[in-house]
Amino acid sequence: MTTKNLRLALLLLAFVQTGFSGTARANPFEYTWQEVAPGVWAGIRQDPFELPQEGNSVFVLTEQGVVVFDAGGSPLMGESIVAKVRSLTEKPITHVIISHWHGDHMRGLQAIQSAYPNVAIFAHPYSRDFIAATQERWLKRRVSMVPNIRKALGAALAADHDLKGRVLIPEEKEWLLKGRDVLDQLDRENNRTTYVIPNATFADRMVLYLGGRELQFLHLGNSHTAGDVILWLPQERIVATGDIITAPIPLLPNPYTSDYAGVLQQIKALGFKTLVPGHGAIQHDTAYLDLLSDTFRSVTAQMKSLIAQSIRKEDAIARIDYSSVEKRFTHGDAFLTNRFHDYVSAALAEATYLIESGTGIKEEF
Ligand SMILES: [Zn+2]
Repeated sequence: MTTKNLRLALLLLAFVQTGFSGTARANPFEYTWQEVAPGVWAGIRQDPFELPQEGNSVFVLTEQGVVVFDAGGSPLMGESIVAKVRSLTEKPITHVIISHWHGDHMRGLQAIQSAYPNVAIFAHPYSRDFIAATQERWLKRRVSMVPNIRKALGAALAADHDLKGRVLIPEEKEWLLKGRDVLDQLDRENNRTTYVIPNATFADRMVLYLGGRELQFLHLGNSHTAGDVILWLPQERIVATGDIITAPIPLLPNPYTSDYAGVLQQIKALGFKTLVPGHGAIQHDTAYLDLLSDTFRSVTAQMKSLIAQSIRKEDAIARIDYSSVEKRFTHGDAFLTNRFHDYVSAALAEATYLIESGTGIKEEF
């Protein structure tokens, strides 16, 4: 990746992690709520690319209180979770579990904690450490974030290019313009964000037995990050995966490619009826999960062979062939094709190179 491309990729990722996407609405930070089983609610970002690209959230009502899985990426998202819970029950939110450290899943915590000061907030130890270690940097970076995004968007739109320098297609232009419309609100949210550090951790597995419900929180291995946790409700056969699964295009900033397919197989083996991904629509079968597995297996097999032939890094990355999977993600749609190239092609190839060559992944903030 050239420095310029890397800079633009990081900027896009900053959008993703701040949670910014594209329908012009009064509140661009809202969820669409769906009751996926009695007392189990999923807050879905209807358009997963809407800027800011915030993560989905799930909560479970029990006789002893409410358990929330992921808190959204801004104070407004946390406030909307609190408001939805209060519209359904007088019971308090007692537990919040964070799927991973990325901001689009945890910067809503402050609203939940301020509404329920005694709430226990759990994360994998890796995620808690990462949040604690990086909060100062993010709180500094947020000052320049929106001005930088505004500048990059302005320059791209003026040149009729997208953020990667490609000729601007109408769908992409509409997306960027809608994103530009929410920048003031994003800036306000950034400026009122305080970091909440999880106050409890568990390494591999935690099970809550509350009011007749069983809620399992499982770390199945490294995949989207080194601290991913899923929610599994064995009675309801519902799984919420965090960003291990994001649809319709995977978000792969620093994927642990050699373990990823194995983690996906463990999720498949649960025998779920309903899957709530970290971003994107609810799923009821394993087709998308299988496509993700095929993608990791294909890229890993190709990369092993290229490394065995001593092909140098940049060439190896360029030679990864996605033709067996790309159309299964994009169906030829121009906007999705751009997202596939931005989020998957080079990023997955590079991560796979780093892992298969023994360098290893460094998660970026
Ligand atoms: Zn996310």
